[in-house]
Amino acid sequence: MLLHTNPAGVVAGLKIAALLTGASGAELVVRCEVDRQTLLANAGTVDLPLEITQAALVNKALHKTDLLLDLEQLATMADRLTGAQPGLLVAVGDATPTEFPADTLLTDILPVGKGLLADHRFYSAQQLEGMTLASLASRSGVLRPMADRDCPVDLAKKEMLTLHRQSCGKCTFCREGLYQLSEIFERISLGRAKTGDLDLAEEIGQAMTVSCNCTLGEEAALPVLSAMGAFAAETQAHVRRKECAANACLALTQFYVDPKLCNGCGKCVSACPKQCIEGGEGLVAVIDNFDCSRCGECLPVCEQQAIKRTSGRPPKLPSSPVPVKGAAPAAQAESESAPLPAAKRKRVFARPAKPQVAPVETPAAPVNQPKHVEVNIMKTIETDIVIVAGGPAGLAAAIAAGEQGMKTVILEKSSATGGAANMGMGPLGIDTKIQKAAFNNLGVDKAIQMHMEYTHYRVDEDLVQAYFHKSADTIEWLEEMGVEFAGALRYFKESEATWHIVKPENGVIGPRAAVPW
Ligand code: SF4
Ligand code: SF4
Ligand code: SF4
Repeated sequence: MLLHTNPAGVVAGLKIAALLTGASGAELVVRCEVDRQTLLANAGTVDLPLEITQAALVNKALHKTDLLLDLEQLATMADRLTGAQPGLLVAVGDATPTEFPADTLLTDILPVGKGLLADHRFYSAQQLEGMTLASLASRSGVLRPMADRDCPVDLAKKEMLTLHRQSCGKCTFCREGLYQLSEIFERISLGRAKTGDLDLAEEIGQAMTVSCNCTLGEEAALPVLSAMGAFAAETQAHVRRKECAANACLALTQFYVDPKLCNGCGKCVSACPKQCIEGGEGLVAVIDNFDCSRCGECLPVCEQQAIKRTSGRPPKLPSSPVPVKGAAPAAQAESESAPLPAAKRKRVFARPAKPQVAPVETPAAPVNQPKHVEVNIMKTIETDIVIVAGGPAGLAAAIAAGEQGMKTVILEKSSATGGAANMGMGPLGIDTKIQKAAFNNLGVDKAIQMHMEYTHYRVDEDLVQAYFHKSADTIEWLEEMGVEFAGALRYFKESEATWHIVKPENGVIGPRAAVPW
């Protein structure tokens, strides 16, 4: 920004620095396109040999003997020595850059909000109290005020992504640290973080600040460290209570209709692209949060502002559309016959009606008399373990017990073992040899992420982790026992090839692959 608004000041600063240090010339390293002609003309006026290089980073290792100065320092140096009133050029949000006296209070130029993001560092509103532009010492001069709807976790995640793209990746701490911190903050914003993740982020961030080779690396952990410091309570709420106070982290946000405000206009029902709003004219709309993608398209449609976003627990709500209070009785009938949207999953499980049987008079049961049950022992079997039901879990448990030298008896009431596996064609496997041979490099972490997103984080992630991490071993275990697989296929078009299809003994691939005949 300074190069565009004050090129003469920058060149004058370079000349002064060259005179003070005895340098024979100067090199100006810029990230963006600059007006080279103007800069070189200014350099010619003050007799300064000037080289202009366009690059994203300055490699400090290559400039050990040079004096490195940033543009702000150069312009300030020139202003001081030429007697000009030193001022600082800053852009607040998207506003045009403006020069302010260095002792301007930040609270005088920033809108009221929850804080500030400047040069990848977060400041809370409390930290900004009494702080001046000079003490902020912003190198870029770009101040991004934070409104109440801004979430520090979400913003820090985006900052990390930007820094990750800028990192050249040569230093391990910068490269790996940025990756790890981005992953941790991604988990936090998705509500998947564990208690120790914030401590881990702090440890990684501190290590990065002292172990990287250039200023980018040294400051790369700033978004995370400063967000955890300036907005500690808000960041911790994401991890401990899975709450995003700003409602910006979509995975932690729910949409609901406030029954007190809804007038039953029904506009939101047709506006929802996921068809997850039930309702109709005269009915209080109800959002199915399982299918809701949090796109927010229903919000502007509701003139009553009855659709709310919340993080954490929503208030008690009707489970299906109910007539709006005071609505015509027709709405009641409609509520009972209102069709569900086409894509809606029906969750009503009707019990079969009991047959009407004429009451038969039975003699009164004897009171307080012990029941005698006749037991006909047909066979006695000595065993270590009894497993009730020979489905996939029961059979696997029996084999595992057998591998440990224990004797097992499985009790199965149906005529065939296999249970639910009798209906399937093969189990799930991730990162198996079969997949690797087919150049399928789907990793367990990616699969877990896909599964959690697909299930809207409503399943027990610990169980999913255990299942997915163990799946490759399980496939190998089955192969060691002689099970052959025809390959790993997709369950449906958009899925990944994780379905390990069993090649049955009769060679016919299809359902009921586990049936033992
Ligand atoms: S700290 Fe990062 S950006 Fe700087 S040289 Fe090392 S890897 Fe590259
Ligand atoms: S939530 Fe809003 S748009 Fe939807 S039915 Fe109620 S008042 Fe109408
Ligand atoms: S946020 Fe989007 S998907 Fe969810 S109810 Fe509103 S319109 Fe439907």
